[in-house]
Amino acid sequence: MAHVESAHLVELALSNATTTDADAEALRHIETCTRCRDELRSLTRLVTAARTAQLVDLPTTPPDRVWQRISRDVSGAPDTPRPPAPAPDTRRRVLLALLALAAAAGIAVAHRYLHERAELVQRGVVR
Ligand SMILES: [Zn+2]
Repeated sequence: MAHVESAHLVELALSNATTTDADAEALRHIETCTRCRDELRSLTRLVTAARTAQLVDLPTTPPDRVWQRISRDVSGAPDTPRPPAPAPDTRRRVLLALLALAAAAGIAVAHRYLHERAELVQRGVVR
């Protein structure tokens, strides 16, 4: 099996959904692949950090427009109204989790890119 896609590793790190056959296959690969196991471990740490983050962990409170932008991007709708007033701490936790997920996804993609580039350099395909 090829390495597990970064997006799938993010899903596994979130472990929100019920396990599918694809998840089981990915987990079998991860058991034997150091690269995927390290990537999943890093993502799991990020998700855990995001879920346990507190408001005091932020240097400043993000402005409302940041929440609105993230909400709009995640929902895919151009003018999605804000969710009905959650408690401020819940909203901030969700924001922190989303920021951490965006960072995790970015790190996973960058990590995969650098690794694949190193393999191409090693094979002499790219200098
Ligand atoms: Zn792998």
